[in-house]
Amino acid sequence: MCFLCEKPSAESDLIEACTVGIDSRVRSVAHELGDFELISKLNTGDMIALGAEYNANCLAALYNRAREHDKEKSSEKNNQAMAHSITLTELICQIQDSRKEQPILPEFKLSDLKKEYCKRLAQQGVAEEARDTLYAP
Ligand SMILES: [Zn+2]
Repeated sequence: MCFLCEKPSAESDLIEACTVGIDSRVRSVAHELGDFELISKLNTGDMIALGAEYNANCLAALYNRAREHDKEKSSEKNNQAMAHSITLTELICQIQDSRKEQPILPEFKLSDLKKEYCKRLAQQGVAEEARDTLYAP
């Protein structure tokens, strides 16, 4: 089930929250938007401790709402830098997880990782021309 919209979703579509960045980002967005439903869910624990899983589209929708809500305060660049750093950390988490599951060291091709990375950035609403630029977190 998706943490954000609470709708059932295929397991393969869900991403498990595994970074502190995602929790604090969703938390600050929830407060910015005054989304009490989301805030009360987050009050029961952080997303990692809750084992929260979310749909990438729902996260993108949430971020877009926040962007619309707060166009002047947070610059587009900050949002993109945040999207980059969250995406990168989630990807690293996933690699680390798969290494735990498999006794043999899996191989990751850089080109595959880049493809996956760009796909996830796109899901977070990062424009194509901004996906090649790595921002410092
Ligand atoms: Zn959802």
